[in-house]
Amino acid sequence: MNRKRTTWTEESLNACEKINESFARAGILQQVEYERIANHLYRAKKLDRPATLTVSQWLSTVRYFRYRCAYCLKQPYGIVEHFVSLSAGGGTTADNCVPACQSCNVRKTQGTLSAEALHRVQAYLEGAVVV
Ligand SMILES: [Zn+2]
Repeated sequence: MNRKRTTWTEESLNACEKINESFARAGILQQVEYERIANHLYRAKKLDRPATLTVSQWLSTVRYFRYRCAYCLKQPYGIVEHFVSLSAGGGTTADNCVPACQSCNVRKTQGTLSAEALHRVQAYLEGAVVV
């Protein structure tokens, strides 16, 4: 199947950010992300990995990247990406999880993400406050 990839303009990404901000103010985003994080915490625990990410830590990371993929910064975020994968021993923690798009997630698995993107995300995670 050859699905056309949506190209997001800076303008539409900014509009997307505004919508997310208003969802956050209304408490809607917290509910949506709570489900998602709970699911990831469950998966990490099942594999005996650290599982301490809170919804508020996650939302501050998502906000930091302006609701975009942390790697390309050109797509809205769609998933929780573990910088060090659960299978490689990483946990669902504030210093290991960033918002990402599907294609960057695939590229990261394939090892084809740019070094610049990886270093930028790693620098953010190293500075992440872990409570
Ligand atoms: Zn991306």
